[in-house]
Amino acid sequence: MAKVSINIATGSLQKEEIIIGIDLGTTNSLIAYINDDKEAKVINDTGKGILVPSIIHFHPTGEIIVGNDAKPYLISDPQNTIFSVKRLLGQSYKDIENFKDFFSYKVIDDDTESIVKIKVGNKFYTPIELSAMILRELKERAEHALKTPVNKVVITVPAYFNDAQRQATRDAGKIAGLDVLRIVNEPTAASLAYGIGLHPDEEKTIAVYDLGGGTFDVSILKIQNGIFEVLSTNGDTFLGGDDFDRVIIDYWLNALSLNPKEVMSNSSLAQAFRLGAEEAKIALSSQNIYQTTIDGHLCGITKQTFEELIKPLVEKTINCCALALKDAGVQVSEINEVVMVGGSTRTPFVKQNVATFFNKAVHDEINPDEVVALGAAIQADVLSGNRTDILLLDVTPLSLGIETMGGLMDVIIPRNSKVPTKAGRQYTTSIDGQVNMKVSVYQGERDLVKENRKLAEFDLKGIPSMPAGLPKVDINFMLNADGILKVQALELRSGVKQEVEVKPTYGLTDDEVEQMLLDSITNAKEDVAQRMIIEARTEGEQMVYTAENFLKKSAEYLSIDEIAKTQQYINVLKEELPKANKDSILKAIDELNEYTRPFAERVMDVAVSQAMKGKKIDE
Ligand code: ADP
Ligand code: MG
Repeated sequence: MAKVSINIATGSLQKEEIIIGIDLGTTNSLIAYINDDKEAKVINDTGKGILVPSIIHFHPTGEIIVGNDAKPYLISDPQNTIFSVKRLLGQSYKDIENFKDFFSYKVIDDDTESIVKIKVGNKFYTPIELSAMILRELKERAEHALKTPVNKVVITVPAYFNDAQRQATRDAGKIAGLDVLRIVNEPTAASLAYGIGLHPDEEKTIAVYDLGGGTFDVSILKIQNGIFEVLSTNGDTFLGGDDFDRVIIDYWLNALSLNPKEVMSNSSLAQAFRLGAEEAKIALSSQNIYQTTIDGHLCGITKQTFEELIKPLVEKTINCCALALKDAGVQVSEINEVVMVGGSTRTPFVKQNVATFFNKAVHDEINPDEVVALGAAIQADVLSGNRTDILLLDVTPLSLGIETMGGLMDVIIPRNSKVPTKAGRQYTTSIDGQVNMKVSVYQGERDLVKENRKLAEFDLKGIPSMPAGLPKVDINFMLNADGILKVQALELRSGVKQEVEVKPTYGLTDDEVEQMLLDSITNAKEDVAQRMIIEARTEGEQMVYTAENFLKKSAEYLSIDEIAKTQQYINVLKEELPKANKDSILKAIDELNEYTRPFAERVMDVAVSQAMKGKKIDE
C-alpha cells in the first residue's frame, strides 16, 4: 500500500493513495486498512477506541457531535440525538411505521409514501445526510490516524439491502466527500477477513451469520478457485441486538408494574432503560445474573430468563438460515464453515443455537465487531490492484422486472442472480399505430406489480407507426457490481432507443418520489391464480382486438357466413373475459383461434399472426 513514487512535476515524494474499508453499521461504524505488512488492521484513533457509535448529536451551540461523545446525549437530550439511522436509510415512513416508538427523535410522517425525514430543532435531515455525517467523522479519524488524506473507500452494506438502500449509502459517501469505489455485502467482507478459501485448491460452501444491532442476515457462499460466490441470502432488516434490549426492557417494566406507554413516552426514561438493558445483555454474555438501578428502580435479570425471552427472536434467525439453505439448494451437511459476524453473536445462546442448527462449531476467532471492516479493507486492497488472486461475485436480493399488460410483473433478472449480470427480453406493441411504449421497472417477488416496488418509469418514444405486434422492442437490464441497475429499451426496426440508470424511488435532490406500493420483500406466491386469470384475460383481449381488426380489414376474403361465425366466437370470448374463470377464457380463445387460423393463412396477414404471439406492453 505504501508504494512511494516521485512526482516529476514537483520533484516531491508521493505516497500512493490509500483506500480504506468502512463498515457503516446501524449501531457502530469503523474503519480498517491494509498496513505496510499487508495485514488488515482496524483504526484505533487515539483514546477514542475502535468502534464509532453511529450516533449524532446536534448541540444547541450548532456543533454536530458524532460517535462516542454523542452517546451521553441519548439520555440527556434524546430529541436532538440520532441513533440507528441506518434503519431509516432508503426507507419510506410506511416501511418503519411499526418501529417509530423505537426512535426518540422526530421521524416525519407528512407523506407516508416518500422518504423518511428527521426533524432536529427546526431543520429537516434525510437519513442520507445523517449517514454522511458519520462517514465524515470516519474519514477524519482515518486521516488523523494514517496521517494522509483519505478520499477513496469501500463501504459495506447488509446483503439484504435493496437498490434504494445501496444507492442511499453511495449518496451518503458522496456528500461526505468520499469516492465510493465499491459497495460490498457485509458477509462477503466477513468471509474475506477469515481468508477462507484463499488457497486456490480449496473448495468450500460456507454460511455467514450476521446479527448486529439492527439487522440480521445470513448468506450462503460458495468458494472455489479463490472465487467467492454468494449462492443465496436471507434475513430480516428489522431484527438485531436492539430487539434483545427491548425484550429486557419489557420484562423489567412488567416486573415493576410500570406502564410501558408512559415510560416510553418519556424519552429520557426510555433511553435510560434502553442503555440499562444493553448493559445487562452484554454482562449476561459472560455472567449468569445482572442487577442495576434505573431511575430509582432495582432492575435484575438472570441469564436463563434472558435466554427464554430472546428464544423466539433467535428462532426467527434460524428459520432464515433454513430458507437461505433452501434457496441455495444446499443441505446443512454440505456447509463446511460457519462464520459469526456482529456484536450480538457474542451472546452465547445465539452461538449455541447457530452451532446446533449447522451441526458444527462456529468461527468466532476474529472479533465479530471488526470482521466486516477488516474484510472491506481487503476488498479495498483488491481494488487498488494489490491483489489479483481474488474475484468477488455477489447476488441481487430481489427480482427485477417490468410491468406487462394487466399489471403483471415480468421478471427479467430473478432474485439471487449473480451480479454483475445482463438480461433482456423482446416485447412488442398491443395496439395498431402505437408510437410510445411505457416501460415501468419494478423490484420484488410478487406477481402483480402493484405489490412490488417501483424503481423507475420512462417512455420509449418515436416507435414508427406499425400494426400491433410488428415493432420489436428489446428491453435490457444491466446490473453492475454494486447492484445499480441500467435499463435500456431499443426498437430494433427503427433503432429508437431510450436508456435510464435506475434512480431508486427517492432522491437527494428530491426528484418526484415515485409511488411506493406495497411491501416488496415478500415471497408470497398466492397470487399465481390471479396471474393466470390476468394472463388469460390479456390474451383474450388481444385476440378480440386482433380478430375484430381482421374482420374490418379483410372482410373481402371471407364469406358472409364466415364473418357471422367469427363474430359469434368473438362474442363468446367477450362474454367470458370479465368472469374470473381462466379455463373458460382459454377455451374461448382456442375456439376463436382454431376457427380463424385458416383465414389468417389465407390472407397471409403477417401482422395478425405476429400479434397473436408474444407479450405486449400497454401503451
Ligand atoms: P451493527 O452491525 O448493527 O452496527 P454491531 O455488529 O456493532 O452492530 O453489533 C452491535 C450489537 O451488538 C448491539 O446490539 C450491542 O448491544 C451488541 N453487543 C455488543 N457486545 C455484546 C456482547 N458482549 N454480548 C451481546 N451483545 C453485544
Ligand atoms: Mg454490522
